Amino acid sequence: MKNLQVNGERLWDTIMETAKFGGTEKGGVCRLTLSDTDRQVRDWLARECESAGCTVSIDEMGSIFARRPGKVDTLPPIAIGSHLDTQPTGGKFDGIAGVLSGLEVLRTLNEAGHTTSAPLELIDWTNEEGSRFTPPMLASGVFSGVFEHDFAYASEDRDGKKFEAELARIGYRGERKCPDHKLGAYFELHIEQGPVLEKEGILIGAVTGMQGQKWYEITVTGQDAHAGTTPMPARHDAMVACARMVESIQAIALNHAPLAVATVGHVVVKPNSRNVVPGSVFFTVDLRHPDEDVLLQIDRELREMVDATARDSGVEARLVNNWNVTPMEFDRECINHVRSAAEKLGYSHRDIISGAGHDAVYVARVAPTGMIFIPCENGISHNELENTKPEFIAAGASVLLHAILACDEARNKTTR
Ligand SMILES: [Zn+2]
Repeated sequence: MKNLQVNGERLWDTIMETAKFGGTEKGGVCRLTLSDTDRQVRDWLARECESAGCTVSIDEMGSIFARRPGKVDTLPPIAIGSHLDTQPTGGKFDGIAGVLSGLEVLRTLNEAGHTTSAPLELIDWTNEEGSRFTPPMLASGVFSGVFEHDFAYASEDRDGKKFEAELARIGYRGERKCPDHKLGAYFELHIEQGPVLEKEGILIGAVTGMQGQKWYEITVTGQDAHAGTTPMPARHDAMVACARMVESIQAIALNHAPLAVATVGHVVVKPNSRNVVPGSVFFTVDLRHPDEDVLLQIDRELREMVDATARDSGVEARLVNNWNVTPMEFDRECINHVRSAAEKLGYSHRDIISGAGHDAVYVARVAPTGMIFIPCENGISHNELENTKPEFIAAGASVLLHAILACDEARNKTTR
């Protein structure tokens, strides 16, 4: 087992094979949660896992669990997971590299004829992206007790279609309760989605934790008015107020540089007509920082700024903080398994904090969890141009393989 490596070429080919489900002209992937293309890739995964000797089952959140038996089948499984859904203009690797590296680990173990003590479980979590149904990491959140089952089922997309109905429509409202079993440990491989590893020429990131994150929805209400007849001083222009707020949000983040990041990525202007002064604007804010105290300070600054800007602009503003993630740390032993695996295989590695949310962040609440980052080109992600190299993914998947073997061995020792 010592020098066992995954088959990098097969792994790369498998990733390219799945990129056809929802593939875009620009080389990206559009595979929104519970869409027809999501169903296609799920069907494909289930088939591949079954041919790799796994038993496939679906839970009531639609997550796919492919179980490879262990020598002691009563032990809680060591799981590998990530997601196969993408952003509307997503890439071929975000989430996908993690699930398919897991599949490659299972295939590699099959070829090597190695059975782990604990069963292994490959998981495709439903709705990690949160693009069609909010919030993100919905199924892993229910699995980990972060969200209520009913809350998840009631989530609606922009056309008013419900999560539950769409699950049923694509045939993935499974029988298994969520959750109905414990995981012995959980590992997730992911592209970094940032520039650090590539810039430093390092192959493997041993992820130590995740920065905190807050989401807001801000609704600015002014008054619709005729664009030709309403004098400038008499206007209550919600769009102008919004623009001022967007600029101030950037200034607040820069004030807490370099670790703070803030983004206004979704704006709805009403009535959205060229000759009407906009009476209403809805926009979102995504705010992140690794230190909870700083995050709370920025939260205060944001609220004060929104109030003051609304007052000065003659409009009203309502701010709703609709999602929070506190900064977290992964399991020490799991992080060590990742570091040691990289060391053993002779790959350069460093510790790294995740700037993005991942299913692993929620799963960490209920199981010892570790994450592996691999470099991605120019740090670009959530973009059709998202790219990485076959050798990076192969290295990451081999680290995943050895982290799992080490974890299995360590757990076997302690349970004996
Ligand atoms: Zn992802």
